[in-house]
Amino acid sequence: MSHAYSDKAQPERPVKPAMMRGARGRCPCCGKGRLFQGYLSVSPACRHCGEELHHQRADDGPAYLTILLVSHLGAPFLLAIFMMYRPSAMSMLIGFSLGAVVLSLLLLPAIKGGLIGFQWARRMHGFGSEPAMAETAAP
Ligand SMILES: [Zn+2]
Repeated sequence: MSHAYSDKAQPERPVKPAMMRGARGRCPCCGKGRLFQGYLSVSPACRHCGEELHHQRADDGPAYLTILLVSHLGAPFLLAIFMMYRPSAMSMLIGFSLGAVVLSLLLLPAIKGGLIGFQWARRMHGFGSEPAMAETAAP
């Protein structure tokens, strides 16, 4: 595997463990510090290893992936439940609305963390730049 950018001197960052750490809400670098400082706001830097995390550019990618996943899981499940139990329209509506909201809220941080882990491992958006540059001097 070779990188397209001039990162020849920098060590390889395995993608899968970084994504797994991110999905668990941990720093993709050390796996110990917290990635988020709230529900979805990313910490500027890891409190455990000091790795800068503010380079992340997850943007609306996690929301898009969550909608894609929840709707693709929901559609066959909706049909299966209807075929098996024939619930009333109102119970279907309430049950699946709540289910979709809860599942989305659970998946969103995990998918965002995984995406940030991927960006970190691939040194995207400044994750690969040297930390020696004093760009965060002023608070
Ligand atoms: Zn860390």
